[in-house]
Amino acid sequence: MTDFSLQTDDQGIAVLTWDVPGRSMNVLNLDSLRELDALVAEALADPAVKGIVVTSGKKDFAAGMDLAVIAAMKENAGDEPARGLMDGIMGMHHALRRIERAGMEPKTNKGGKPIVAALPGTALGIGYEIPLACHRIIAADNPKAKIGLPEIKVGIFPGAGGTTRLVRKLGAMGASSWLLEGKTVDPQAAKAAGLIDEVVPADQLLSRAKEWVLSAVGAELSKPWDRKDYKMPGGTPYHPAGYMTFVGASAMVNSKTFGVYPAAKALLSAVYEGALVNFDTALRIEARWFTNILMNPSSSAMIRSLFINMQALGKGANRPEAPDQKVRKLGVLGAGMMGAGIAYVAANAGIEVVLVDAAQDAADRGKAHSEGLLSKGVSRRKVTEEKKAEVLARITPTTDYAALSGCDLIVEAVFEDPKVKAEVTRKVLGHVGPDCIFATNTSTLPITDLAKASDKPDQFIGIHFFSPVDKMQLVEIIRGQETGDRAVAKALDFARQIGKTPIVVNDARFFYANRCIIPYLNEGVRMVAEGVSPTLIENAAKLVGMPLGPLQLIDETSIDLGVKIAKATRAAMGDAYKDEAVDQVLFPMAAEGRLGRKAKAGFYAYDDKGERQGLWPDLARRFPLAQEQPSLQEVQERLLFAQVLEAVRALEEGVLTDIREGDVGAILGWGFAPWSGGPFSWLDILGTPYAAQRAEELAEAHGDRFAPPALLEEMAERGQSFYGRFSPAQAA
Ligand code: NAD
Repeated sequence: MTDFSLQTDDQGIAVLTWDVPGRSMNVLNLDSLRELDALVAEALADPAVKGIVVTSGKKDFAAGMDLAVIAAMKENAGDEPARGLMDGIMGMHHALRRIERAGMEPKTNKGGKPIVAALPGTALGIGYEIPLACHRIIAADNPKAKIGLPEIKVGIFPGAGGTTRLVRKLGAMGASSWLLEGKTVDPQAAKAAGLIDEVVPADQLLSRAKEWVLSAVGAELSKPWDRKDYKMPGGTPYHPAGYMTFVGASAMVNSKTFGVYPAAKALLSAVYEGALVNFDTALRIEARWFTNILMNPSSSAMIRSLFINMQALGKGANRPEAPDQKVRKLGVLGAGMMGAGIAYVAANAGIEVVLVDAAQDAADRGKAHSEGLLSKGVSRRKVTEEKKAEVLARITPTTDYAALSGCDLIVEAVFEDPKVKAEVTRKVLGHVGPDCIFATNTSTLPITDLAKASDKPDQFIGIHFFSPVDKMQLVEIIRGQETGDRAVAKALDFARQIGKTPIVVNDARFFYANRCIIPYLNEGVRMVAEGVSPTLIENAAKLVGMPLGPLQLIDETSIDLGVKIAKATRAAMGDAYKDEAVDQVLFPMAAEGRLGRKAKAGFYAYDDKGERQGLWPDLARRFPLAQEQPSLQEVQERLLFAQVLEAVRALEEGVLTDIREGDVGAILGWGFAPWSGGPFSWLDILGTPYAAQRAEELAEAHGDRFAPPALLEEMAERGQSFYGRFSPAQAA
């Protein structure tokens, strides 16, 4: 079976169709690349062929490179992985350059055959790099299609000539948002931005492509950068305008990434160095930087977590055997911040929603949240008025529990109070059928205890959303002691329906995400109490890739919530409670009304409009700075180890059962340094022997909370890695 086929029509136009057997989407691997190259060579050599249309047999063109192949290519490259990678990448360049040159004489640019890409739908990554090498790109007017180069999002950059070609096509400035942000757009927007040349009605795609092949002449066949008079748009680095661009780009990249994403730096180097030399040399430079990135442990960890494993979890890698559990009618209890968000994402995914609150105006306000989000979508032209009306029509706000009749899933999001939760649980049971699954969105209460209010604890489960629900990609599914497999399958199928990535964890205090994030926040607060400069704490966190410093994050989630959690934890743990040092900072701040952003006063100062102004100047007076400040690395290690040791304990205790979920959940749930691939990937990058030793040193200096868990010690002794020991067979 082949991925590409070649058919020449009676006008002499060869149609090269990409159609990977048995898959709904085309992805490129090394074999199919060789096939493509051989067929292009064949068509170019055939005197009966006038030109080539490269297209797809599927509704989309291609989703990109099979990244699993890149990971394997590196691992299989023997003693010289870098050489293996470099050769492989140069192979891609040769194939794409063959398309681009299309048999032209090197000096005169004459004698080539026109090659056009005809894209029926989505064209991402290599799926856009191949068209970029063609002489023209025509796309079907398919508003669902996405076009662009999203590689940077998984820690790499376009390495099959996409970087070099796009910069030469649009200039460094013009190409920057596509390359550095991985932005993707529909065909109309792609045409407006100059990414593609033409958009035509879907049913005219092939005929228009053929028409162009027959009419293409002269200069249309050679790329501007292959002509003598070529000048890079916006100028090269030593051109006055180009100089500004490159200086600005470097500052912009560093301000956004804090220097922790190697791919962004390598991309910028490839662009800068490539802009100083001729096209073929620029491709070689791009290949070297690309090899450099593929050799970087951060990139492989990001690919593994953010692409391979995230996809596997999204497809239900840990779903128990059970018939399809897709949700048809959802009941949401509590139309507050979370309930309203859950109602919106479900209705948006086509599910009927009954949104119940104690008072009708509260229920209506919950629905109004959806209206607000949809209206914003309409004003940004991302949502049509019809779609908005359709989604809103699916949400019924009410106080009447009888409206829940026929619901096959309930998600409860009322106040965080076991009594209120038990009461609504019992009330619901009188109105829903015997098969209905009941889920709670609690963030702190044990699922097993809440399940006692139900007469069917096997149909009771936790589905923990993160705020804001429409933006946060993770849902944490929590199995109570008696939760049955069908309830887990239901929660997973629901997550899939609403396009979220789920992880499944067992019931224990704070489940997984909050369990790891709280020590991060606490460590930041402890350091304030010790007199470590708050500026150092916050910057250290950002410089190691955390999206927010711990003090800013506490301000965002509110200091009184921290106090509430601390009090509940102390009540539950009794003498084992060890966070008094944290309470000594948080409690007085809460007592004074410094509750964080919502009070416009917290660890940070805010202006009248609630804009953050910088750290609260009085913080230093309250908690005087110690004379001797720790090193940046020491602060960073305290902040990261506080989280990852908790993740290891969660694994050790069986709360986590799959390290892939631990890594993906950490990145999507609380933004754990994405460059690292997640807590377990980071420990593997450090190596367990070093990690255990550092944890011991930190424990000696700062307390038992850093003592390496037995599992980490044992793995360190045996020299094991987490992915070596725990990776399920299907994980990379
Ligand atoms: P909220 O206070 O914004 O909303 C709670 C809603 O429940 C209110 O509209 C209230 O009127 C309603 N309600 C209370 N008692 C009710 C009853 N007997 N019947 C019907 N409705 C009732 O709270 P929230 O922030 O949306 O949190 C809801 C739940 O989600 C809590 O369990 C919380 O722990 C959990 N949670 C919150 C977050 C977060 O970031 N806020 C994140 C994850 C989980």
